[in-house]
Amino acid sequence: MTQQHQNQRGRHCFEQGPIRPPSEAGSLLLRVSRNCPWNRCTFCPLYKGEKFSLRSAAEVMADVDAVACHVKSLQQGEGKGLLSPSLLRQWHERLPKAERASFRAAVHWLQNGLRSVFLQDADALVAGATELLTVLEHLRRVFPQIERVTCYSRSATVVRYNPVELQALCGAGLSRLHLGLESGSDKVLHKVRKGASQALHIQAGQMVRKAGMELSLYVMPGLGGRGLSAEHARQTAAALNRINPHYIRLRTLAVPDGTPLANELAAGQFDPCSAVEIVREMLLLIESLHGIDSAVVSDHALNLFEDLQGKLPGDKERMVALLRSFLNLNEEQRTLYQLGRRTGCFRGMGDMQEPTRLAEAERLSRQLGVTPDNVEEICAALMKRYI
Ligand code: SF4
Repeated sequence: MTQQHQNQRGRHCFEQGPIRPPSEAGSLLLRVSRNCPWNRCTFCPLYKGEKFSLRSAAEVMADVDAVACHVKSLQQGEGKGLLSPSLLRQWHERLPKAERASFRAAVHWLQNGLRSVFLQDADALVAGATELLTVLEHLRRVFPQIERVTCYSRSATVVRYNPVELQALCGAGLSRLHLGLESGSDKVLHKVRKGASQALHIQAGQMVRKAGMELSLYVMPGLGGRGLSAEHARQTAAALNRINPHYIRLRTLAVPDGTPLANELAAGQFDPCSAVEIVREMLLLIESLHGIDSAVVSDHALNLFEDLQGKLPGDKERMVALLRSFLNLNEEQRTLYQLGRRTGCFRGMGDMQEPTRLAEAERLSRQLGVTPDNVEEICAALMKRYI
């Protein structure tokens, strides 16, 4: 999974990690640290077996310079009409191997407008304020047009910063943090070994907001399983109501093979929610959000509804109505929607009204032999494609 390159002379070369948030698809990915310094969340397959390490500011700045060099050549080439896919391929092939990764990153970033940068991997803040400020200042010097720099971090790391350092990072351009809240329930957080409590999440979230950064919090419907579903919804809403993040991003639980949670599931120690139970949980969550103006975002393929989006408080009733409309379907229609969503036929409930999409979902349902009794099992297998 990890890309770590060294050129033949042993010097460090451009490096990128495997993961970014969906909203950073067009960003330049700059690797500040490798893998995850925590790596214990039971539901997370991302960095298991990978060792955490930091990259120095000098290494990261060298990556910035490598991209800058390619961007400059590409912009000159653009003026001469040299950026067709086939010419870019030839250009890429002519480069020494050690320069190709930074070239690909530069092409991708240029095609997306050179606007945003994402600092990788799972917790860039762990690099510390001094190193990050050095990188951010260099980025701004080399690419003054950048509009947004963001990274993942953990609540436990954020609270180790003092407010002045966070403000300095924000002032240097780190404008948005993505934090995995996952749940606001202490019981759920403890069970999944998140390494955070509700109080810690609230403290970290409020610190980020006070520092002037945008805050994007990830919430994982289904994470508490059947037994803790209502507690998960209520306590998550309670935490969100205290933090008022700019974004609440939904990412429904899927249990990836090889994780501790998959072992719990196999041993009968984790009782997963059905789709209907997850929708009831999301309904309780959304209904319990009060006094905040966050944007709810559903930008992950694992979510049952791509259109469960909106700005609070104005769009709350619409989101509640959408969830209720699913619960009001009869069992066969719910089963068909579920299968249609997991096979890519449907993105939202409205797609069930489109005859072509509906016919394709019905065809696949017949082909796979889907019934209300086996739909959860079939969909769980299909969802693994998106993990
Ligand atoms: S902190 Fe994030 S990347 Fe690390 S184990 Fe937990 S979910 Fe995975």
